Amino acid sequence: MATKTTAPEQLLIGGRWRPASNDGVIDVIEPATGQRLAQVASATAADVDAAVAAARAAFERGAWATMPASARGRILHAIGEQIRAHLDELSTLEARNAGKPIRDARDEVLGAAQCFEYYAGACTRIFGETIPVTAPGLDFTLREPVGVVALIVPWNFPLTIASWKVAPALAAGNTAILKPASYTPLTALRLGALALEAGLPEGVLNVITGPGGTTGSALAAHPGVDKIAFTGETTTGTAILQLAAPNITRVSLELGGKSPNIVFADADLDKAVEGSVWSVFGNAGQDCCARSRAFVQRGIVEEFSRRVAARTQRLRLGDPLDDATEIGPLISTTQQARVRGYVEAGQREGAALLAGGAVPQGALAQGSYLEPAVFANVGNRMRIAQEEIFGPVLAIIPFAEETDLLPMVNDSPYGLSGSLWTRDIGRALRVAKAVRTGVISINSTRSVHQEAPFGGYKRSGIGRELGMHALQLYTEVKNIFISLE
Ligand code: NDP
Repeated sequence: MATKTTAPEQLLIGGRWRPASNDGVIDVIEPATGQRLAQVASATAADVDAAVAAARAAFERGAWATMPASARGRILHAIGEQIRAHLDELSTLEARNAGKPIRDARDEVLGAAQCFEYYAGACTRIFGETIPVTAPGLDFTLREPVGVVALIVPWNFPLTIASWKVAPALAAGNTAILKPASYTPLTALRLGALALEAGLPEGVLNVITGPGGTTGSALAAHPGVDKIAFTGETTTGTAILQLAAPNITRVSLELGGKSPNIVFADADLDKAVEGSVWSVFGNAGQDCCARSRAFVQRGIVEEFSRRVAARTQRLRLGDPLDDATEIGPLISTTQQARVRGYVEAGQREGAALLAGGAVPQGALAQGSYLEPAVFANVGNRMRIAQEEIFGPVLAIIPFAEETDLLPMVNDSPYGLSGSLWTRDIGRALRVAKAVRTGVISINSTRSVHQEAPFGGYKRSGIGRELGMHALQLYTEVKNIFISLE
C-alpha cells in the first residue's frame, strides 16, 4: 500500500485552516502497514484559546443559535448529504487510518450521514413545557443551547462518535470544538471541511488535533468551555471530571465496558454462536460494547465453546482495503502488545485457550494484527473477566442457574451494554431488568440505534447519547413565569 505524503493537515479555527502556533505536528500511522499515513498539527494551549474564542464569537454572534430551527436543520441535512457524497473517500480514509475493514468503514460513514439527517429533523422538535404552578400565572420552560461545547472523541469509531456529538450539539444551537484522537484525526478534519461546504457558518464547528495530555486537557480545563462531551477510557473520564470541576463545566461521559453475553441452554445456538463471535471480535474487539464475557449455561457450554472457537478460526484477517477482510489490525503496536499481555495473563491464571491469541506471521506481520482469542473455563474474578481489554479476547464463563448468574454478571465496575439469548420470554425480561447496564439486547447483539438512547451505568459513563435523549446533554432548561395578576 502506498503511503500518503502531503503537507500536514491543519487546524480548523473560525472557518480558517492554520498550522499550530509553534508549527508542531504529530505523525499519523497506518495500522496495517506501520507506515506514516499523514501528519496533523499539534495544537498548543494558545491554539486551544483561539478555538474557544472562535466558538464563543460564533455563539455570541447568535447567527447559529437564533437562526430558525428549520434553517439549522437544512444545514445539518446538507452535512449528511456531503458525507454521503464522499462515501468512498471517507470510508477509505477511515479504513486506512483506523485499520478497520472497508465494508465496516462504509457502514460507519453511512451511519454518520444518517446521524446528521436524524438531528436535522430534531432541530424543530426541541421544545419546552407549560407547567400548572400554584401561583396565579403562566409558567413555561425553554430549552436553550448550553453555549460552547468541547467534543473529545476516541480512535475506535472516529467519524461515528464525532457525529454522535457534533450533530446533536449543533442541532441544539451550540457552537463546538471537536478534538479527535491522535491515532485517527483524519475523518474529523474532513468533517470540518465538509460542514463548511454544506453552509455551516464559520466558527460554529472548529476542529483541533493534538495530544490528549496537552491539547485535550487544555480544552477540558478551559473556562470558556460550557460543556464537555467525552468518549474514551474510564481513567481519562476521571481526569476530565477533575479538569472540569473548577469551572463547574457540564460533563457527559461515554466510557469503557466489559459487557456480558448470556447464553441459556434453550437458546437458538446457531444464532447465539454467530452473534457471540461478531459481538466481541467486530472492529477487532476495539468496541466499548464488545461482549467480552460470555456467560454460558452448563448444559451447552462445551458445545458452545467448541463452535465459537471453530467459527473464530475461520474469521478472515487481512488488508482493511480488501472487501473480503473481516478483521483488521489493532490500532497500534502498543495496543497489540497490551492485548497480547492479556492473552498471557489468561493462560497464567489457568483459563483454557481454545483459539487464537498469537501475532500472525507472513504478510500481516508488518501491521499490528492479533489472532482473535477464545478462552474457556474462565473464572469471573480472573483479570480477563474483569478488565476492559479493548481487543479480540473472549472469556467464556460457565454458570448453572439464573440465580448464580446475576451476581456474576453484575460483578463488574462497568455497566454499558450486553446481550442475552433464550427462547423463554419471561426469563429474557427478568434478566434484562436485573442486569445493571444502560443497554441490553435480547436474541441480538445490536447495542446502538440512531433513534434510541445509548450510554452506561456505573463506571461506563454519565448521560445518554443518540435519539432525542442526546439533546438533554446539549441544552439548558430555562423556566419563565408570567404573572397574570
Ligand atoms: P482515551 O481516553 O485514551 O482517549 C479518548 C480521547 O481523549 C482522545 O481524543 C484523547 O486524545 C483524549 N484525551 C486523552 N487524555 C486526555 C486528557 N487528560 N484530557 C483531555 N482529553 C484527553 O480513549 P481511547 O482513544 O484509547 O479509546 C478507547 C476507550 O474509549 C475505551 O476505554 C472504550 O471503552 C472507550 N469507548 C467508549 C465508548 C462508549 O460509548 N461508552 C465508545 C467507544 C469507546 P489522544 O488520542 O491524543 O490521547
